[in-house]
Amino acid sequence: MTPGRPVPPPLGKPLVVSDETGEASLPTPAPAPSKPASASGMPTLAAAYGATSAGSGLVPLTVARRAPKEDDVEIEIDFCGLCHSDVHATRGEWGEQNYPLVPGHEIVGRVRSVGSAVDDFAPGDLVGVGCLVDSCRECDSCLEGVEQYCERGNVGTYGAKDPRNGGAITQGGYSTSVVVDRRFVLRVPEGLEPAAAAPLLCAGITTYSPLRYFDVEEGDVVGVVGLGGLGHMAVKIAKAMGAQVVVFTTSEAKVEAAIELGADDVVLSKDPAAMEAANRTIDVIIDTVAAPHDLNPYLRTLRLNGALFQLGLPPTDMPPVSPGTLIRRRLSYAGSLIGGIAETQEMLDFCAEHGVVSDVEVVTARQLNEAYDRMVAGDVKYRFVLDTKTLQPASEKADV
Ligand code: NAP
Ligand code: ZN
Ligand code: ZN
Repeated sequence: MTPGRPVPPPLGKPLVVSDETGEASLPTPAPAPSKPASASGMPTLAAAYGATSAGSGLVPLTVARRAPKEDDVEIEIDFCGLCHSDVHATRGEWGEQNYPLVPGHEIVGRVRSVGSAVDDFAPGDLVGVGCLVDSCRECDSCLEGVEQYCERGNVGTYGAKDPRNGGAITQGGYSTSVVVDRRFVLRVPEGLEPAAAAPLLCAGITTYSPLRYFDVEEGDVVGVVGLGGLGHMAVKIAKAMGAQVVVFTTSEAKVEAAIELGADDVVLSKDPAAMEAANRTIDVIIDTVAAPHDLNPYLRTLRLNGALFQLGLPPTDMPPVSPGTLIRRRLSYAGSLIGGIAETQEMLDFCAEHGVVSDVEVVTARQLNEAYDRMVAGDVKYRFVLDTKTLQPASEKADV
């Protein structure tokens, strides 16, 4: 393992071009469209489900999708995964939100139409959209292909202000369609089953990115804390990278399930003796727990030079990490946010090559609220995915 391995270059196509002064600038505008930007060239109304306030639960909504511009791809959504971040956001657990809010950033569907400057996607292509739909495209992070760390703030797939579209608030994938700039659209390999591939767009890339940053390979021991949507993808991806995997779970019911999923060992984290027995056995920990918890017992399972990547973003602060534990083994305590576009494409191709997809339970729109409750209770193996064909028809007027 070699921590700090760089991410691949941005998609082979720079997001920005440099002029002769070396200053970054936006790409030269393409010539005026010679064909209509979309079938209709008009904004469309799409059926959706979303929250109207922190306490509303999810209700049927209709969203207006912009008329596709020359660089846009209009996507007919087939499936959208339900991420715990959707629960945090719609329920206001991360603070003030822009309501109405249509969540969903694990989107898979088919291209319906493309703008005149789009030559890398065509109608009918199987595509995905993850957690990002834009970024400034010119800061150091964007130029390095890690748009998620855009210094001016990335544009999230939902609930974010979209500067290139008049400051409109983005609306996510619990919907029948979406319009996204081609630079932020991913190609989903046809070998991947669409519903099971949807969670790769967030849970997959969020766990792939730190594993790859740590350059996990055969012989490494990866610990996965929390066996939910992210956690089960971490197990599958780390195994595909050749690592040995140890799952730490609070749920007795998941002990056998973790082994069935491919883990080499399971530790019931509520059992202090089992935690003690795991002392100095792990190289890198991927912590996916969605609630505040004490990290110190997990840090003690790390070997010299080990690292703990915190991926879960609980609504409230966590108990402090003990400096002594970090210092005595030269440990790193790190965070990691989703992944950039090029790395997300790399992850999708890696998953296709290794036959890695999510274990999903497909739900209808009417089951969404119950699915949220079940997710919070840990009652899902391991990711709910919405079948967008079950959404109600769009109404004649947009709610948002
Ligand atoms: P999830 O499917 O609900 O899984 C979370 C797991 O955490 C549970 O299955 C459970 O595993 C464990 N857990 C232990 N105690 C818990 C508690 N009191 N409440 C809830 N979970 C508990 O969630 P997810 O979709 O994988 O997301 C996990 C976290 O990552 C969320 O906070 C989400 O917002 C965050 N996230 C971060 C990024 C990023 O870029 N960093 C991206 C996506 C999501 P056991 O039963 O095995 O203990
Ligand atoms: Zn997510
Ligand atoms: Zn940027």
